[in-house]
Amino acid sequence: MPNATMSLEKFDELNLQLKEHTKELAYHIVGDPLVLSNLNDYLNISKKHNLKVNITTTANNINQKHYKALINETIKQINFSINSYNANSHKKSLDEYLDPILAFIKYAQENNHEYFINLRIWNLDDNKSAKVFNEKVFNKINKTFNTQINIDEVYKNRPKNIRIDRKIFFNFDEYFNWPNLKNDFVSKNGFCYGLDSHFGILSDGSVVPCCLDQNACINLGNINKQSIKDILRSKRVKNIQDGFRKNILVEELCQKCEYRTRFDKKD
Ligand code: SF4
Repeated sequence: MPNATMSLEKFDELNLQLKEHTKELAYHIVGDPLVLSNLNDYLNISKKHNLKVNITTTANNINQKHYKALINETIKQINFSINSYNANSHKKSLDEYLDPILAFIKYAQENNHEYFINLRIWNLDDNKSAKVFNEKVFNKINKTFNTQINIDEVYKNRPKNIRIDRKIFFNFDEYFNWPNLKNDFVSKNGFCYGLDSHFGILSDGSVVPCCLDQNACINLGNINKQSIKDILRSKRVKNIQDGFRKNILVEELCQKCEYRTRFDKKD
């Protein structure tokens, strides 16, 4: 889908509707909230509607211009996708990438941040393909925060989180492939939290069942034409939800979604 930004007016109207359904928003489905020069205006709208906000960012361009927005009291947590360093086409050294993030964390600490800051390392795999990169990141964090995070222990114990400092954590997960209709078929049966714990709204207003449907393959409706309430009451939504409850994947995208398999019960 082409890049687009939802207007502040539309966002305000949407927050008003969303507070009937949720207490929390996550400002991202692929899009990075730090590209917005007026991020604080969006945060203030969510704050006005008593909605808490989760920010996820590659932090490729984080600088002092973002600081005011990033200490907005409506923020519940900030996730820095550290493993995105390898996926992006910038030419920064690892230090050039990490130093501005660490500078911001220092600023947040000086301002007694109450939200969580997570450094996401979502690249663990059995082949340890990102081990060299991860070790460099751990060395830098150990030096900065006087921690003793050990790369071998992380691969051996596969922790979900490791505490770095007050309200600051490493958050670990495995690599995953984005669901796509061109992917190989995975399964017709299974469960997912899409349309249960969350759903997504793309910048063009398309409503999707989860935060991975970046191209609106499962387009449930559009907020520019219908209310959220009506979209969530639709037959297609009910079919997907009933399917998940009965362990049936109704939609083709879900049948080709490898990410979902992490919710399968292990024997
Ligand atoms: S199965 Fe995959 S595509 Fe379907 S709702 Fe869940 S995460 Fe989204």
